[in-house]
Amino acid sequence: MTLTVVRIDQNSPTGTVLDASTPMIRIDDEGYTRGDGVFETMLAVDGSIRKFDLHLTRLGNSARLLHLPNPSEDSWRSASALALESAGNGTPSSLGAEHTVKLLISRGTPEEGPYGLVVVSSVPEATIAQREEGVKALLLPRGHDPAEDTAYPWLLAGAKTLSYAVNMAVLRHVRSLGAQEAIFTASDRRILEAATSSVIMARQEGDRLRLFTPEPNRGILPGTTQGAIFQGAREAGWDVGFGPLYPTDLMESDGVWLTSSVRLLAPVTHLNNQELVLNPGLTGELMNFLRSR
Ligand code: PLP
Repeated sequence: MTLTVVRIDQNSPTGTVLDASTPMIRIDDEGYTRGDGVFETMLAVDGSIRKFDLHLTRLGNSARLLHLPNPSEDSWRSASALALESAGNGTPSSLGAEHTVKLLISRGTPEEGPYGLVVVSSVPEATIAQREEGVKALLLPRGHDPAEDTAYPWLLAGAKTLSYAVNMAVLRHVRSLGAQEAIFTASDRRILEAATSSVIMARQEGDRLRLFTPEPNRGILPGTTQGAIFQGAREAGWDVGFGPLYPTDLMESDGVWLTSSVRLLAPVTHLNNQELVLNPGLTGELMNFLRSR
């Protein structure tokens, strides 16, 4: 995969393009050795970054929780524009040419301190395919309730940190069982979030269809894609609601989707090997809420 990398630091607040084929991370970089840093992953379509404001707000919040300096909004915008200009072709899709744009702040080395990176790559075709093909998901315990972490700032609830080893381990686990995605549950079986996405569900209530998602402020990552879909739905006059949701809610729903910035939304075709209701028309309507955001 071709990567384009732009670095932001004190000497270069608007960003410098680095040669991605040469070493650029020092061995004592604490982003690398301790996962001590934060990131955002965004989608660019035809060179324009979707939901940039929402990502910058969440990055600022993550950086604050970790006491990391956050480059200014202008720095991120100019470095991202530079990275996209320098990047190769995006992956063609029905939306346009798609790139993944990752913003990252690392604690850096003890001598040099923190810095920011913008990393641009084309979106894998398999990721785009999941928007239509959907995914099989398994419910797995998170081990403890992340809502309990919200009282303790050092547990970094709601921060998008570089420490994603657990999220990757759970994906390897479900793949070994023939599924593609894991949906975490709390000790009381409440639905939380997927390994790298949020969960939304539709339920027909009388003559109205209502969208639901687990409460975003109870220790899970507040998803910008879920937020944008709910905003679009509200503006279109739909009802939206927040958890608690339990496995039976998903099993008996009128559709479940995993939402994230690059994949956008993937219908869940099977949950714990049980077939779920699929509604391609509704998937299209939810996708439309994201077109302008
Ligand atoms: N939850 C987790 C744990 C994630 O890692 C992500 C995205 O990476 C999301 C939810 C979805 O967030 P967004 O829609 O802002 O990409």
